[in-house]
Amino acid sequence: MIIGVDIDNTIAATLPEILKRLGWKTVAGYNLFRTRAEEERFFLENAEIFARVQPYSFAAEALQELAARGHEIAYISARPRHALGATELWLEVHGFPAGRVILTGDKPRVLKEMDAAVMVEDAPGEIAAIGGLGVPVIIKDQVYNRFLPGPRFSRWGQFLKAFEVVERGSALCSSWESTLVTGTPRP
Ligand SMILES: [Mg+2]
Repeated sequence: MIIGVDIDNTIAATLPEILKRLGWKTVAGYNLFRTRAEEERFFLENAEIFARVQPYSFAAEALQELAARGHEIAYISARPRHALGATELWLEVHGFPAGRVILTGDKPRVLKEMDAAVMVEDAPGEIAAIGGLGVPVIIKDQVYNRFLPGPRFSRWGQFLKAFEVVERGSALCSSWESTLVTGTPRP
């Protein structure tokens, strides 16, 4: 199946890198910038962030394992378009499995169009919008998304467990539906 994976603060520790540049120690909410234009200017002036940012430990290994199990990984990010080359190079350098890299302002539509089975994501707005379309989301735990329900993991070493629960859950769900249709009595 196709598995969508977000990049910043899901497989890459981008927030600490941004805070360092802004000279801030912590952040209260998810939105760092007041406007989209301000955010765009920041990433244009600090484009080297996309090469410098550190991957989370075991993220590449976990996604390699999914690829080895026959799944297709698609990297879906809201990064600006000028970050495409740096992003593709970064994924390769850090040992992530090959996959399409799509930079978009509309993740739910992209996921629907590619018929993705699941998305791995940290951003509260995206989690809600994608989940609302019926695509299951596995949440990369961050302080700013803890109010949201759903399967989550904090370290990539635990990801495969969360993935298998979701994978089993969708299988259970479809067998339950077919049971309803055929009218077979359930235990
Ligand atoms: Mg993110």
